[in-house]
Amino acid sequence: MVKKTKGQTLADDILACPKSLAEKDHGLMEKASDFCEGYKKFLSNKTEREVVSYAVPILKEHGYTEYSRGTKYKPGSKFYRINRGKTLLMCTKGKKPVSEGVRVAVAHIDSPRLDFKPHPLFQDADMAFFKTHYYGGIKKYQWTTIPLSIRGVVHTSDGKTVTVRIGEEDDEPSFLITDLLPHLAQNQMRKTASEVVEGEQLNILIGSWPFDDEKVKERVKLAVMQVLNEKYGIKEADFETAELCAVPAFKPRDMGLDRSMVAAYGQDDSSCAYAQFMAELDTKTPEYTTLTIFADKEETGSDGVTGMRSFFFRDFLEDLAQDEGCEVRHVLQKSLCLSCDVSAAFDPAYPEVQERNNCCYLNYGPCIAKYDGSRGKYSTNDASAEMMDHVIGIFRDAGVSWQIGELGKIDLGGGGTIASEISVHNIDTVDIGVPVLSMHAPVEVTSKADVYMLYKAVHAFFNSKKPKDF
Ligand code: MN
Ligand code: MN
Repeated sequence: MVKKTKGQTLADDILACPKSLAEKDHGLMEKASDFCEGYKKFLSNKTEREVVSYAVPILKEHGYTEYSRGTKYKPGSKFYRINRGKTLLMCTKGKKPVSEGVRVAVAHIDSPRLDFKPHPLFQDADMAFFKTHYYGGIKKYQWTTIPLSIRGVVHTSDGKTVTVRIGEEDDEPSFLITDLLPHLAQNQMRKTASEVVEGEQLNILIGSWPFDDEKVKERVKLAVMQVLNEKYGIKEADFETAELCAVPAFKPRDMGLDRSMVAAYGQDDSSCAYAQFMAELDTKTPEYTTLTIFADKEETGSDGVTGMRSFFFRDFLEDLAQDEGCEVRHVLQKSLCLSCDVSAAFDPAYPEVQERNNCCYLNYGPCIAKYDGSRGKYSTNDASAEMMDHVIGIFRDAGVSWQIGELGKIDLGGGGTIASEISVHNIDTVDIGVPVLSMHAPVEVTSKADVYMLYKAVHAFFNSKKPKDF
């Protein structure tokens, strides 16, 4: 063995030397790939309602029961509560009473998409369309000329509830938003990217063959409405109360010749949701009670009854506190939270938006973001040094790899996460999440190893015996 020089030894000792997950453990990809088979299945659920419907039977298989107030749960008991079919709270009771604090992990299960307007259906130039209002931050031009599927729920005027899911399977019809041919796009191409395709142009083409009756005014519209009526029993007026949306119809796929990545819609934030879901399921009898949250409405600011600003979260903790005869405020002050949301991975095509010493990279593990926000850390949850030390200490002890980064360069934009909605309740919170390429695009890219390592991180957090001592 070649002896290290004095400088090399000193450098090893006192300088930080970030290594990729592959350098630390080359065999990791095999475990990560196995783990991501389940992840790809999870990703076929593309709305918050679908994720909740998918998760609940799995919870039941793992011994979870619906939470009932007043129950004395024993250590290791597992229970859940659903909020309006869109938000899910999952718990594994710890050995210690909740007055010693709970360990929270939260990820959101809504993703950017195209919601239908209340009056979506119209006919123009003998074609029928659905009008949409986009949900979340999208680059609108990315959503034309890609296959779309239609999802959602309709309450019909005759009292039925219909779940819609069409456009995903090979034998089902597809839908799309048209774009202008380059030959006539001289003016369009001179516009700025935010104006190339405008919100009111995001109309989904759904039909072109008229109903066979010349006496009817809008015959194409009638023809497509007839299909919907026969398949689902929907009438046009039912759209007024419906929640329908269009999402990219791509199936989750392995990506790259080495299959080291996943390409799929909705990885913001299903990559984190899946990782924490698996960590929750695999936690048996923790020291502290776990609370795993699937949240809705993050992409539009966490408002509404199913967003994390809603009191349902605190009310649930208040119920848990009351069940054990303590005050919720005492539970909150001793609790800790990992706010699991994705980060922007460094993209060599766009190096100018990142500061190379403080950004995150694919395959370097889940990215801890001490703070987010924008323009001088405005609107940020800035995790304290004590919280960072506590969480990183847990990861170190459990052999979990992580990296630390900011979303991007100062003053180029920015963004917030759910972290602020949790820390407002007096819970120490830090952001951690999977690095993503092409975030918010119809297809996003993650590394399998990063998704798997986030699972290990949340699992270590849930299973740590370390009390909060700050
Ligand atoms: Mn997110
Ligand atoms: Mn997002």
